[in-house]
Amino acid sequence: MPASDPPTSDPSTAADSASDPTRRPTDAAYLDGSAPDLPSELLNLPWIDPHNHAHTLSWSDRERYALSGCRSMLMVSSGYHWTPYKPVEASDVRFLWDDAINRREAIERNHFFEAKLGLGVHTGVRIENPEGLLAAMDDYCALDEVVAVGETGVTPSQHVERWDVDEQQAVVQAQMELAADHDLPVLLHTPNTPGESKRAYRDDLGVTPGYEKNAGLGAEPVLDGENPALEAVKRDVEAAADAGLDEERIVASHADANNTAYLMEETDCYLSFTIGHSWLIGVDAADVADAVDEYGPERITVDTDCANVLRTDPYAVKRAIFELYRYGIDVDDIRTVVYENPRDVFGLAE
Ligand SMILES: [Zn+2]
Repeated sequence: MPASDPPTSDPSTAADSASDPTRRPTDAAYLDGSAPDLPSELLNLPWIDPHNHAHTLSWSDRERYALSGCRSMLMVSSGYHWTPYKPVEASDVRFLWDDAINRREAIERNHFFEAKLGLGVHTGVRIENPEGLLAAMDDYCALDEVVAVGETGVTPSQHVERWDVDEQQAVVQAQMELAADHDLPVLLHTPNTPGESKRAYRDDLGVTPGYEKNAGLGAEPVLDGENPALEAVKRDVEAAADAGLDEERIVASHADANNTAYLMEETDCYLSFTIGHSWLIGVDAADVADAVDEYGPERITVDTDCANVLRTDPYAVKRAIFELYRYGIDVDDIRTVVYENPRDVFGLAE
């Protein structure tokens, strides 16, 4: 509608206006004519995914990262879901590291985004004789393509076999010592507290739909206090102190309502909200927006944690960019969270 012909306040007569060709009033006739100033720069805002397992995805999934503007990613190789033998031996995890190193550059050349590596020993399964693996890790940490240690972090319960919690903490600390030696950041795996499900699945399927692992192989928890998930994170922070690793060199992934206040108020760690499988852990862009409102954007990132064993969404960060804006977050703060923070902590996209 031209400026000289302001919208009528009586829609029943709108279609009578000589300048309005619609036969009867449409939704548009009820608008006041002042369109919001939409930030079109969000369409092309580059973003970084500081936690995924994209080397386990399909070519087409990796292409989705490129198509939606991913500038750089941290592909995390740490034993848990991908070691075929149970119990797991150190050499199984080392094979996973080598597999990621083997494929990384081909992935970059195919898809144009930067792909760097995080290597670690995940404590979600017990590893026999981790000492040799940790010793070998020293040389891996010196590689240019390895920009982080992890994901790792004390886990309240294991898959297949229990791992004594003090032994776990020692393995986490040893990795943090290596990170400190090599001036690398650590990607921390923090345990989530599952939300209420409406109904239990039948037992005989043996798997959780959307998560391809043998659910029946979960071992009895090694941490069984009031809040084992938070206790695990506190042990990680204690391990970092004992390892001489600065808290600002830690990115705690899988932030949720159970660990956000502790990590933001009592530590200097970064917090990464995993939004690529919200159906599983119940965290989405609304939680990120709430955290930015409460604590500011300076220590917050988002990640997808996309992996072949999970129902995950390579478009999750791109979707969140728009969703954060809709939730009232400024463009500058969105850029800080999806791009600048992961760039600066992990030295990506430089
Ligand atoms: Zn992960």
